[in-house]
Amino acid sequence: MSDSANQPDNQNANQETSQEANQQQAKQYAGQPLTHDDIRNFVPAENCLEGKTILVTGAGDGIGRVAALNYARYGATVLLLGRTSSKLEYVYDEIESFGGKQPAMMPMNLESATYAEMQQLEGMINKEIGQLDGILHNAGMLGALTPLEMYDVDMFSQVMKVNCTATFMLTQALLPLLKDAAHGSIVFTSSTVGTHPRAFWGAYALSKQATEGMSDIFTQETQNTTNLRFNCINPGGTRTNMRAHAFPGENPMTLKTPEDIMAGYVCLMSDASINVRGQVVALQPKDQ
Ligand code: NDP
Repeated sequence: MSDSANQPDNQNANQETSQEANQQQAKQYAGQPLTHDDIRNFVPAENCLEGKTILVTGAGDGIGRVAALNYARYGATVLLLGRTSSKLEYVYDEIESFGGKQPAMMPMNLESATYAEMQQLEGMINKEIGQLDGILHNAGMLGALTPLEMYDVDMFSQVMKVNCTATFMLTQALLPLLKDAAHGSIVFTSSTVGTHPRAFWGAYALSKQATEGMSDIFTQETQNTTNLRFNCINPGGTRTNMRAHAFPGENPMTLKTPEDIMAGYVCLMSDASINVRGQVVALQPKDQ
């Protein structure tokens, strides 16, 4: 963790200037809920995530890796959660190489993780870092693309656990810390087949539909009593390993990269979006 008391004066001055810009941006949006176009086209102020601690699941690869790098670039301390330690180490080194705040690695397999382990994680974040301002629930698995009639029941459970049940468990376990944040932001990841279920997408589509429902219910249950906000992001077709597995015949060069869609990911974690609640934001709305 960086210690601002030990930073040189000019660094502190830069930080104050960017904090002012950040506050101005938050003020500019205050009171008006952003439209989905505003979110997609958001131009982040420098260091707009300064002072925030954000946990990203599935941070070792694909969209999660790029989101973690962007959150760090805009000033956040990023907690990297994923199941492959070597990938998390690589992202950790990338963040250190551009001078981002020292991240933390949290290896966890969401398929087998227990609620007790997630509560331990909450205790550890509380003790070591002392705050949590946001979670990007990004980790996901595709499972099989096959009719429900033939869907392997073990795989069905596995997909539901990783994409939905673990998301619920982790959110609940981390809520005490998130409620202490000035403006806690929880971002779930959906998909076009979560909004409009489609034949052969099986447990993946159902897990994403349940995730959208969970975001809606959490919103209703917290919006009048807390400063928390819950939203879903639908990245749309994006050049990653998962997309290549789902569409093996597709030319990946026709797809946006994770970097291309980061405006929405940064916006929903920044204070510019404190009035955005219970939304499902499609980042590539024509890609339905
Ligand atoms: P990738 O397959 O590239 O990355 C998925 C990430 O999730 C990896 O870091 C992976 O870890 C992690 N993960 C998978 N299973 C587990 C587990 N059991 N425990 C912990 N971490 C796990 O996928 P994308 O980047 O494409 O997808 C990110 C999110 O976006 C997903 O929720 C996906 O459903 C959603 N999405 C993606 C779209 C696309 O076109 N790419 C379109 C619509 C939605 P590891 O690397 O160790 O396997």
